Amino acid sequence: MPARYRPETILAQAGGAVDAETGAIVPPIHIATTFLRDPDNQYRRGFAYGRPDNATVRQTEAMLSALEGGAASLLLASGMAAATSLFLALPRPAHIVAPRVMYWGLRKWLVEDAPAHGLTASLVDGADLGAIAAATRPGETRLVWMETPANPLWTITDIKGAATAAHAAGAALAVDSTVATPILTRPLAEGADVVMHAATKYLNGHSDVVAGALSFARTEGLFERAAAVRASLGAILGPIEAALLLRGLRTLHLRVGAQCAAAMKIARHFAADPRVAEVLYPGLENHPGHAVAARQMHGGFGGMLSIRVRGGEEAAIATAAGVALWKRATSLGGVESLIEHRASVEGTASPCPPDLLRLSVGIEAAEDLIADLDRALAAAR
Ligand SMILES: *Cc1c(COP(=O)(O)O)cnc(C)c1O
Repeated sequence: MPARYRPETILAQAGGAVDAETGAIVPPIHIATTFLRDPDNQYRRGFAYGRPDNATVRQTEAMLSALEGGAASLLLASGMAAATSLFLALPRPAHIVAPRVMYWGLRKWLVEDAPAHGLTASLVDGADLGAIAAATRPGETRLVWMETPANPLWTITDIKGAATAAHAAGAALAVDSTVATPILTRPLAEGADVVMHAATKYLNGHSDVVAGALSFARTEGLFERAAAVRASLGAILGPIEAALLLRGLRTLHLRVGAQCAAAMKIARHFAADPRVAEVLYPGLENHPGHAVAARQMHGGFGGMLSIRVRGGEEAAIATAAGVALWKRATSLGGVESLIEHRASVEGTASPCPPDLLRLSVGIEAAEDLIADLDRALAAAR
């Protein structure tokens, strides 16, 4: 599909994929694990074996590259597989700068597991460009990793500023853009070198695929090494999951638009509720990252917010116990709304306050979601 088309056009038609042989407007799923060699033993059609590469995976990767404005993309078996494959693609030993407030599973891996792989991480305040720059070590820091908006406080990192800080130290900048989605933010256009998605979340959007994605500004260097790590670890996404992801992507723009609008309504409603101590949402003017988010996010502030319940941990857990419509479950970015008491998930090393409930807003009527949470807050008192 020509690059001049807007994201919603590319998404609706899955990049214009029509099967050349049958004319099918939904592309076939390639499940073969092995491929014929030419008589002279070459693989001129470009496919040899299912662990390094797959045609259905490639088709979905081409969509992601178009959306992110990347030169190349890789799909992996999960968001964690995507992030850790990128870290393992760094020349080692390597120093990494990462935010203290970030997806907890990855922070845990960086702190507990990465050192054995020759990777040491310094954790900083991702909202503070001075702290990011000060933590870099020229010649040693290979990667600055940022997440924006970041779980579960929705801390905003200025991607342009973080790119400047990373590049000044000779490091690359990678951004976990799971919550922003390519609809709202294009980190590569802001100067990042790599953008990562837990495609499990908004990109697929239907809570039925676990997947991860990396999109790269350039095809040499990190992309090649990450592709080699994926191939040797066997961390590629399966073809059926890639096809489901391609189907989910067709409605990404509609889902994210509805989720942003509903999240804003819910945030404004509970910001004025005396039973709620604080609403954390980058769309609210009093959020510390609002100004940067307003510049860097286009068309909305995302579908994720958190509320801090007056009355502390007990009241927060009781509120989550009292909802009927919101589903008490982990994960985010699906069409159904989810609520979760994060401190009990993230453990004691987490900067998550104990009175915090994380809300992933789906595509139900915002009024129904507000009424349900309102009843639960009332019952928890
Ligand atoms: C879920 C999530 C991940 C991890 O993705 P998985 O697919 O669960 O491995 C990483 N970053 C963010 C922001 C996430 O929400």
